[in-house]
Amino acid sequence: MAESTGWEPVPRSRTFELVLARIEEQILAGNLRVGDRLPPERELVEMLGVSRAAVREALRVLEAQGVLRSRVGTGPSSGSVIAAMPDEGLTQLLRLHIALANLPLDDVIEARATLERASARLAAGRVAEVDLEPMREPLTRMDEVGLPREAFNDYDTAFHVAIAEAGGNRLMADMTVAVRNAVRHTLLTAFNKIENWEKIAARLRAEHHRIYDAIEAGDAESAGNLVEAHVRGFHHDVVQTVLDRPDAPTSAR
Ligand SMILES: [Zn+2]
Repeated sequence: MAESTGWEPVPRSRTFELVLARIEEQILAGNLRVGDRLPPERELVEMLGVSRAAVREALRVLEAQGVLRSRVGTGPSSGSVIAAMPDEGLTQLLRLHIALANLPLDDVIEARATLERASARLAAGRVAEVDLEPMREPLTRMDEVGLPREAFNDYDTAFHVAIAEAGGNRLMADMTVAVRNAVRHTLLTAFNKIENWEKIAARLRAEHHRIYDAIEAGDAESAGNLVEAHVRGFHHDVVQTVLDRPDAPTSAR
């Protein structure tokens, strides 16, 4: 049977993935850059030796990913333009992939702790240039006693996202946002199951203020340590404990 193993026919419906791979190769090789026009559909069909349907399918996927802007016209000058990938597109993709990968929660937390530690260090390092208001606003909102848990969770997310954005590294910020959003539902589930909520909320408030103070003081070392301890501590002491109950979900979703 060895001669047939691994040599199954390529399903026709998968041809578009090969077209996608070819276009990706051109982008990664630097032959296609932002603003460049892709060859017209007819030329792609000829050059790649595939059906028009496969080319169209591949272009649709790239458009949905925000990599291509829609085709202009139908004449000989038609062709899709390589677009700068909008931040939102990347964040959304990462979030969906993290959710769909059904990753163990521990892996997501490890990534979160590492990313947020780095972001906080960067933010503290450039405190002179950054606007602290986007961090201060959710911090103040969370101080409100009796704030509904869902709102607390949203401001908590906003606080961490603001730190990531203050770090000034867009890729790190996008990844931080995606990972934080990927655990949003898990955190909310945990928040809603906590019995001594006001006690936990008080602890989180205090930790957030210490993180903010370290960033404001430009103390990168403390800011990084505090954020990492906050992320790990909260998951270890609160989320895991609450979600370890039999009726709780076990994945990052
Ligand atoms: Zn937090």
